[in-house]
Amino acid sequence: MVAVQSIVNGAAALRVEMPRQPFGIPSVDEILGSDFCVAAQARHGRSAVVGAVRTALAEAKQQLLGSDLANVPRGDLANAVARAASARLDDLAQPHLRRVFNLTGTVLHTNLGRATLAEEAIAAAVEAMRHPAALEFDLGTGGRGERDDAIRPLICELTGAEDAIAVNNNAAAVMLVLNTLARDKETIVSRGELIEIGGAFRIPDIMARAGTRLVEVGTTNRTHPRDYEAAIGAETALVMKVHTSNYIIQGFTAEVGTRELSAMTRDRGLPLVDDLGSGTLVDLSRWGLKRERTVSDAIADGADLVTFSGDKLLGGPQAGFIAGRKDMVRACAKNPLKRAMRLDKVRLAALEATLRLYRNPDRLAEALPALRAFTRSVGDLRELAARLCGPLGAAVGDGFTVAVTECASQIGSGALPLETIPSAGLAIAPANGKSGGGQIAALAAALRSLPIPVIGRIEKGRLVLDLRCLDDEGRFFETIQRLETPPHPSA
Ligand SMILES: *Cc1c(COP(=O)(O)O)cnc(C)c1O
Repeated sequence: MVAVQSIVNGAAALRVEMPRQPFGIPSVDEILGSDFCVAAQARHGRSAVVGAVRTALAEAKQQLLGSDLANVPRGDLANAVARAASARLDDLAQPHLRRVFNLTGTVLHTNLGRATLAEEAIAAAVEAMRHPAALEFDLGTGGRGERDDAIRPLICELTGAEDAIAVNNNAAAVMLVLNTLARDKETIVSRGELIEIGGAFRIPDIMARAGTRLVEVGTTNRTHPRDYEAAIGAETALVMKVHTSNYIIQGFTAEVGTRELSAMTRDRGLPLVDDLGSGTLVDLSRWGLKRERTVSDAIADGADLVTFSGDKLLGGPQAGFIAGRKDMVRACAKNPLKRAMRLDKVRLAALEATLRLYRNPDRLAEALPALRAFTRSVGDLRELAARLCGPLGAAVGDGFTVAVTECASQIGSGALPLETIPSAGLAIAPANGKSGGGQIAALAAALRSLPIPVIGRIEKGRLVLDLRCLDDEGRFFETIQRLETPPHPSA
């Protein structure tokens, strides 16, 4: 017992005394003495290894029920149980939230965490995590400051707004605005703008939770100024425009723009809120992308408040902004709900650093990963695909063919929903020429189980890896060397 204990603790190089007979079920202590378990204890601690060995041993006994135990090679079984226990613990030690290679072709992929941050933002976040920071502290007076002071001057400078605050995300921003300005009263929205974004964000539901009564005006495809005019009454608290981020209404359509609406709401003393969604701060046509309405445009058009996300086209961490007229922004800041939606110092630091990059648009496409991805030339991507085609072909084995392919990337996160950017990547197909849905699904699963999971897109029976978001070629090359291909398909 003592000898076993010392081996278990790694204190002595003694081997476990070999059991008296080479057959039968090994004891927990024998298994704990195996090399696998000694190594596993260094990683996971003794109590975790003991627990995992007990579980794995119980499973092994279950499997051996009915077999002749006199024939079970004891040492082999001990090793197998030790290996299973150690593998299980290694699995459990993997973080759940793991880095992945986003080769889906959707640059701002909500399910993969939207924008990746600029180095400046990462450095600012790390600094804020590691040290105390002047979060609500005015370094000038030594008195209390406000956490939104970190972003207010930048947002005002970049958008022309009088004031601004930031909250957890744009859903929170919309909620806070409605609750502050329209609680127990009516909010007017065009029927064509009653959007649903990613399941849980539906304008009618958000309105209900914010405590405002939704008044829909117009029809799905056409809304006119007279529709708004007829709806405005004693109970109206605000008029809201919502960017139809993830769809477009085409054909026989009419909508009332912010400029026209603002003339109407201003006359009646009603606030006009423009939920821009993605909310870019710069004219994207400068980089050859389609121009998306900017926050400055909405403010210039007369929106009293504009709400937009921090992690969509803006390219920062998850956040939502409320920018615009000072009295209304102040009212939102004083709402007790703001406290439940506020940002922590880490995200604020990253957000401030991201916004600062916008002061120098000349460097933006290089500094901001999202914009860098949008502006990568298809020629570079073809070359990258050509370099990786051979290595990927070798990694997937003879069961599949790999070819350089043209493809189309999307911006994602409800920005420019119909726009695609020409791109290049690798298409993997079953070698036997059959459509082979099962094989492709198995390959996609194998790629997802790599140390850095590779996420592609299945399209017409092929697995397409769009390389637009691959910015670490070396790491990708290393990662695919570890691919364990699914069983060879029978031709
Ligand atoms: C994306 C979007 C939202 C929600 O923003 P989150 O930052 O995801 O909370 C709200 N409104 C519009 C128009 C959007 O596009």
